[in-house]
Amino acid sequence: MRSQIVAGNWKMNKNLEETEALLSELAAKLPDTQAEVIVAPTFVNLSNAVKELDGSIIQVAAQNMHFAASGAYTGEISADMLLNIGVDTVILGHSERRSLFGEDDQLLVQKVETALEKNMRIIFCFGEELEDRKSDNHFAVVERQLKNVLFGLSADKWSKIVLAYEPVWAIGTGETASPEQAQEMHAFIRKTIADAVNSGVAENVTILYGGSVKPANAKDIFSKPDVDGGLIGGASLKSDDFIDIVKAI
Ligand code: PGA
Repeated sequence: MRSQIVAGNWKMNKNLEETEALLSELAAKLPDTQAEVIVAPTFVNLSNAVKELDGSIIQVAAQNMHFAASGAYTGEISADMLLNIGVDTVILGHSERRSLFGEDDQLLVQKVETALEKNMRIIFCFGEELEDRKSDNHFAVVERQLKNVLFGLSADKWSKIVLAYEPVWAIGTGETASPEQAQEMHAFIRKTIADAVNSGVAENVTILYGGSVKPANAKDIFSKPDVDGGLIGGASLKSDDFIDIVKAI
């Protein structure tokens, strides 16, 4: 049985006090759940988040990291720095990193390689743009994103990979993929992995949907057989909304 995950990507939101307040609300309100619950606050608040969540089942992830071990990379954060404060999960390839900060597949190959060398778990984000979907290229784009970065990995590495399909046109726009569109793509992703890697990996890999998931649509999206949870942006910033989304799984 693959794991179900609800992860909150806080992006560049919440100062220290706000982070502490949201985490204590989440810890207090978290229902019993078989899903893994993960939050990704900003770098400056990660260490505090780990301490505050000590003893809670809520896990902490980073939103990004650099591939190099250390050195002259002004403004960057290494895998060892994350591990040193108790963070062993990292989001890589988010569409905002790709579009706003120029991260391409070649860079992501290096980041993935480093994360796996360090035995970290990766939440790998990918997804098509609106033009790709309009021109019916969405399956080809998604397949290429996976192939370029992940299909070179040996099958044993896949236990450390969580996939997050996030159609760019649905991120922060209020427009979400329909449950049917999500299921169609997730099934395609699983089949593509079965062909490129093997059917065991395809069956066991957790595939999250991300893009305007809210309490109102989470249950329908999560009810689809190939959707194993969600990567939540805006709705992860309010404890009641995020908790309702956790309850929907
Ligand atoms: P959203 O963001 O839920 O605000 O659309 C999702 C994401 O960027 O991971």
